[in-house]
Amino acid sequence: MTSAADPLLQLRGLSVRYASAGREVRAVDHIDLDLAVHECLGVVGESGSGKTQLLLALLGLCSSAARLAGSIRYRGEELLGAPPARLQALRGRRIAMVFQEPMSALNPYLTVGTQLTEGARRHLQLGRRAARARAAELLATVQIDAPAERLRQHPHELSGGMRQRVMIAMALMCDPEILLLDEPTTALDVTVQAQVLELLHAVRARTGAAILFVTHDLGALASLADRVAVMYAGRLVEQASAPALYTSPRHPYTAGLLRSLPRLDLPVPARLPAIPGQPPDLAELGAGCAFAPRCPLVHDRCASSPPLRALPEARSVACHFEGTAAQIAGAWA
Ligand code: SF4
Repeated sequence: MTSAADPLLQLRGLSVRYASAGREVRAVDHIDLDLAVHECLGVVGESGSGKTQLLLALLGLCSSAARLAGSIRYRGEELLGAPPARLQALRGRRIAMVFQEPMSALNPYLTVGTQLTEGARRHLQLGRRAARARAAELLATVQIDAPAERLRQHPHELSGGMRQRVMIAMALMCDPEILLLDEPTTALDVTVQAQVLELLHAVRARTGAAILFVTHDLGALASLADRVAVMYAGRLVEQASAPALYTSPRHPYTAGLLRSLPRLDLPVPARLPAIPGQPPDLAELGAGCAFAPRCPLVHDRCASSPPLRALPEARSVACHFEGTAAQIAGAWA
């Protein structure tokens, strides 16, 4: 039994691990996250930080070699270890995902219409005509012109931006409560990125779906997310409301990511500053803070892994440095 105050989706201690050449890869490591009804939660981090594995775990789509632990609750119902038939009934119907690469996520042999209508025919038992009418309506909603004609086309006949719109329309076909977005703007040029973000705003306003938006680009999240969670090396290192995170980051990694974004209020530098170094090998994580080799504030205590500690205003951070946001930003200067 759930109450209105319960989160729609609740992750507790979620871990995804793989064995690789005799080593253990900790792709996702003890993640706690909540997604409320109608909320947009952004999850940000560099490639390899575990963001996509987190989304795949929610839908039961990790590879069979993965070992999952912890808890994933949807409206109070435990999904980790749920029967495949139950997960299949939820996928696309209650929780839908927009995959990262529309060209590889769409089947090149099937028409757009066949792919768009498949889920609605299965989950909503719509007949062919009704499903195509709904598909055409959704293509119009995502601002694709001549929808009836597009339904007869194959993915290669559409531009990258149109394919991404088709993916979004497909995810909306069964009116899901939760939309999982995996880097929905990454493969697009800047102008189309802006159009897709605008479209996501409209979709959110129109459907009221809760959104879990995974990206490496803090800039893409800025206008859409209510809260932002930052992942590094499979772990959650900071979580805050979007305004608090963008204006006063409390983790050096978050501050480094923000510093690498172009600013409209400053002259454009010849080169944007990047965080030095590379993310760690997830099979070689030691006992200390995983960000230590790249951190300008590293000190003795960082030889032990910092726990996620609560801060005022429903924020949390995993860092031994307890200074102010200004001191953290200053360390990157
Ligand atoms: S725990 Fe230490 S190394 Fe890790 S982010 Fe904080 S200051 Fe940097």
